[in-house]
Amino acid sequence: MALSSAMRTELTQHLKDLHLPTIRECYAEQADKARKEDLAHERYLLELARRESEVRRANRIARLLRESRLPLEKNLETFDRKRLPARVHQQVEVLLDGSFLDRHENVLAFGNPGSGKTHLLCAIGQELIVRYGRKVHFTPCNLLVQELLIAKRDLRLARVLKRLAAHDAIVIDDIGYVQQNREEMEVLFALLADRYERGSVILTSNLPFSKWESIFKDPMTTAAAIDRLVHHSVILELNLASYRLEASKKGKESKS
Ligand code: ADP
Ligand code: MG
Repeated sequence: MALSSAMRTELTQHLKDLHLPTIRECYAEQADKARKEDLAHERYLLELARRESEVRRANRIARLLRESRLPLEKNLETFDRKRLPARVHQQVEVLLDGSFLDRHENVLAFGNPGSGKTHLLCAIGQELIVRYGRKVHFTPCNLLVQELLIAKRDLRLARVLKRLAAHDAIVIDDIGYVQQNREEMEVLFALLADRYERGSVILTSNLPFSKWESIFKDPMTTAAAIDRLVHHSVILELNLASYRLEASKKGKESKS
């Protein structure tokens, strides 16, 4: 038998107070269905709990994707993995199981411009959110450095580092692309030191380690930064022809 109107109002209020919006929306319809199909009370409850959980999970993933600042069009579906060297292909398979985040390992992608570093790492970041609900933050390196500098100036550096520390992975795109001055280098180093063995750093660079002194200025700081990053890490070497160049060549060939 269905509920009286007073009971319906009361139930709706409880479901509101308990923050169960999906159950509130679907309980009546599901109750009709349960009566028709003669389902046990527990089956009805199970169905409601399942729906509430599913919607909650989907909302959480959508929020994590939004907040990650990842360029979402750079995903695994739009990435041609057949272009990858066999070794990198295997490494990517392992990374996609997500356990490197629990080990606080870093992922460092090197290769010439256009080889697909940014696209690949963004795609991995997106999978970590969608498959496992992990918290990922994407930022171009120069933007990150500027944000950290402003935070330092406003005496908020510790607070900003703490907020970043709440992420399972920080994707830092194009480290070393823009020449940095000493102050900029120092805040970047502070971040890397802060994350060491506490959370994963995922980064891309066009510069091999041998040229990182141009980023961190003096040999000691450079060695210290590389040491921390490499200690627990997976290094992806994408020594590939530029995808853009190849695509534009193909375009021209097919036109001629
Ligand atoms: P990098 O960061 O190494 O300079 P990008 O990831 O920016 O290279 O790639 C350059 C362009 O080529 C981007 O538009 C990217 O989407 C595309 N691209 C690169 N590699 C692939 C690939 N394997 N499959 C599909 N698109 C790719
Ligand atoms: Mg890039």
